[in-house]
Amino acid sequence: MNKPIVAVVGRPNVGKSTFFNKIVGRRVSIVEDTPGVTRDRIYAEAEWRDTPFILIDTGGIEPDSDDIILSQMRAQAEIAMETAQVILFLVDGRSGVTSADREVASMLRRKGKDVILVANKIDTPKLPDDFYDFYELGLGDPIAISAANMLGLGDLLEMIIEKFPQNEDAMEEDDRTNIAIIGKPNVGKSSLINAFLGENRVIVSNIAGTTRDSIDTPFTHGEDSFLLIDTAGIRRKSKVIQDIERYSVIRAISAIERCDVCFLMIDAQEGVTEQDKKIAGVAHESGKGMIIVVNKWDLVEKETNTMRDFEREIREELPFMTYAPIVFISVLKNQRLEKLINMAKMVADKRAMRVPTGQLNSLIVDATMMQSPPSDKGKRLKIYYVTQVAVKPPLFSFKINDRELMHFSYARYLENKIREGFGFEGTSIKFVFREKGESVNE
Ligand code: GDP
Ligand code: GDP
Repeated sequence: MNKPIVAVVGRPNVGKSTFFNKIVGRRVSIVEDTPGVTRDRIYAEAEWRDTPFILIDTGGIEPDSDDIILSQMRAQAEIAMETAQVILFLVDGRSGVTSADREVASMLRRKGKDVILVANKIDTPKLPDDFYDFYELGLGDPIAISAANMLGLGDLLEMIIEKFPQNEDAMEEDDRTNIAIIGKPNVGKSSLINAFLGENRVIVSNIAGTTRDSIDTPFTHGEDSFLLIDTAGIRRKSKVIQDIERYSVIRAISAIERCDVCFLMIDAQEGVTEQDKKIAGVAHESGKGMIIVVNKWDLVEKETNTMRDFEREIREELPFMTYAPIVFISVLKNQRLEKLINMAKMVADKRAMRVPTGQLNSLIVDATMMQSPPSDKGKRLKIYYVTQVAVKPPLFSFKINDRELMHFSYARYLENKIREGFGFEGTSIKFVFREKGESVNE
């Protein structure tokens, strides 16, 4: 399921970081498992009453002058409107309405997005006298919270999840493969899209995304339908370079959330950059299909092992996604574009694949015979039963005797065996371990 995105917008010092940390809490450390992903904490997964969502903090570095604050807030509001389903506009409940608040409120009102006005730092039940001034922002009832003291957060979360779009699942059931094309400026994203369209001489209708400015382009190849989600066209002006990077990551996150398969485009002359790693981490965490696309291969001087060496370098840089195929292309020379699009379809199919329970269990039995499960203090790990409980990404539930005994390395061994047996190229696969007696819906 695509997770809804909730973006937090607001002036410096209103409590965005505090709010973010309280909502996300313990989940942050889990997300940080992938190196480089959330170092500067742009986003994290959160959950309320079994409804997962993605929380994005649009605020970046601290601007030091009023006009920079204003321009940064405008940019924050724009990126939030472009990428999020629900926007939280955080204000300082104790300092009254500022002119920057008014300006941002009027931007947010114009788009008709779901915006919740949140007045933070209301630490006591008594509301400040000027609290009602917030009504003049025209964003409905201000919701009073105290992030620091965790007051009012439950009610707010309740409001947030009520605003999420319903019937998302039904819409996803079409057999179109959504491809997010991600990569730094000039890597060749637009060229690739044009090449696909030209080559296939099909529909060139651009649907402006209903809720965002990025352009989604549908096209067909043979029997297969695709939607290309492009983040290329947008170049946001900003005075601050860190802002631009932050916004491009936020944009990538939202494109990835909507896709089935992500093309991570890497420039053959530059190799994997920090930004590429961060985005690869996002795609991995969200369980999307992944293909690493090395473009401009025509510009590389080739010797006997050039491709192999390049491949090794990528694997070293992105060790957490060895499952992602690497394709070396040249958009300019029209090299391997056919292979790439066929692979996208293949990866989408693998991500949606269900393996029969009988075959799965006999594969696991064989695997445990070839390499005994780990033991500790005379107690050995026992695997009673395995089922695939979900697709997109494939999720396997293991019924075992003791979770403590399931070492990371053994889980990885089992993952490799499942991949050898059934494929699953291009998709992460996830495991859950349940001890005997635990219900499925723990
Ligand atoms: P950001 O710049 O919007 O991310 O704001 P921060 O989260 O860094 O918070 C700015 C300051 O406000 C910090 O000193 C926080 O401790 C304080 N703060 C945040 N939330 C609350 C709150 O609910 N009540 C009070 N009294 N202070 C808060
Ligand atoms: P975007 O910013 O990622 O959308 O990149 P563009 O599609 O605008 O391409 C940036 C530049 O790279 C353009 O000048 C393209 O002609 C060039 N380019 C794209 N693909 C290739 C390729 O395969 N080989 C070479 N040599 N140049 C390419």
